[in-house]
Amino acid sequence: MKDTEKLYAAMGIGEEVLAYGDAVLLGLRERFEAIDGTAEYNQLKVLKAMQENQVGEACLLGTTGYGYNDLGRDTLEKVYAGVFHTQDALVRPQITCGTHALALALMSNLRPGDELFSPVGKPYDTLEEVIGIRPSSGSLAEYGVTYRQANLLADGSFDHEAIHRGINERTKLVAIQRSKGYQTRPTLSVERIGELIAFVKDIKPDVICMVDNCYGEFVERREPSDVGADMVVGSLIKNPGGGLAPIGGYIAGKRKYVENAAYRLTSPGLGKEVGASLGILSAFYQGFFLAPTVTASALKGAIFAANIYEALGFSVTPDASQDRYDIIQAVTFGAPEGVKAFCQGIQSAAPVDGHVTPEPWDMPGYDSQVIMAAGAFVSGSSIELSADGPLKPPYTVYFQGGLTWPHAKFGILKSLQFLRQKGIISEEQIAKALEKCRKTTK
Ligand SMILES: *Cc1c(COP(=O)(O)O)cnc(C)c1O
Repeated sequence: MKDTEKLYAAMGIGEEVLAYGDAVLLGLRERFEAIDGTAEYNQLKVLKAMQENQVGEACLLGTTGYGYNDLGRDTLEKVYAGVFHTQDALVRPQITCGTHALALALMSNLRPGDELFSPVGKPYDTLEEVIGIRPSSGSLAEYGVTYRQANLLADGSFDHEAIHRGINERTKLVAIQRSKGYQTRPTLSVERIGELIAFVKDIKPDVICMVDNCYGEFVERREPSDVGADMVVGSLIKNPGGGLAPIGGYIAGKRKYVENAAYRLTSPGLGKEVGASLGILSAFYQGFFLAPTVTASALKGAIFAANIYEALGFSVTPDASQDRYDIIQAVTFGAPEGVKAFCQGIQSAAPVDGHVTPEPWDMPGYDSQVIMAAGAFVSGSSIELSADGPLKPPYTVYFQGGLTWPHAKFGILKSLQFLRQKGIISEEQIAKALEKCRKTTK
């Protein structure tokens, strides 16, 4: 046995599982090369923005108190604006998560009497309470902002007629969610987002187009702001934090809209001028610097998982050969034992809390038990290797992240090993899938 194989064996990966994994990988070389090409492009894009804005050692320090004249904070916001090709950006540890960033972008740019419109169906779960689809204290609905949506057609395409009907004289902001999140609709490519924005602006040129960019950053060479989005919004404990940012969110876009968000985040009159960065900036800079290659690792993991489980006969979304526009992979096991074994395998691969066994629990806000695998350096970080699934039919697990490709690979092999050991997948099933895989890659 070679050194690496020995170490895999010592860490609980059986020979059959490893051989199958490596056979699957042989067929993915071209796709992995394309991902590396995108990472190379995005790495240069980030580096260029850092150099052009003269990021210096002083930028890595932080301020306290009010945070006036925080050079590092202000420069970082220029770097984000440089990468997203926007006039301005707000990048702050005071933005606590992705939902907060989105709520901020919406609440600061909408006024009583305005209407918010989603042309891509139901938004991410947590936004239902922000908007007031589910009644909630402080929602947009309570402030007299109404909401409307047009669903996607059954095949995932835009319902142009419904969008036309949905946009009216009160429509002020159009919210477009890039990633499918935990829904079954397809994730939107940047190209499709561009088409949608063009269609919307044709109907109403002055409407604000905001994109929920969560899980999408650096997956492609272009961002939604390159194709007409007025604001892009996301979380730093996903892709752009590169696994290093311990908190934070961002809004990049037209100056006026970013300014509105800043006045809401701090206070009218103060805006971007206050907000001490404390000691956090070096993690923000370094995380953003690493984000293109970290995202590439997560993407490789998602594609690897899809190929591993599809050939074993499980339904996977996106499927094994589909192009990727976000880092989320869904695998449907059809039985609770599958979801549990998968998550326990992912957990056992973690650098932190790898020794604990995740169990399903009654999570607030969910109508069934949920099991979660997360052994992360940053609590709840989903750019790190993680998985979760509700214990209800069709028993689908959602998998994402991986700070490095070797770790993502190890995690997926571990999940397969657990499924094998629990008898959910048989030795013959793996042998058959291996055979099939060797034939197609010849
Ligand atoms: C994660 C996510 C959010 C919310 O981000 P949190 O940091 O969990 O609050 C919103 N939209 C999409 C598409 C997401 O993936």
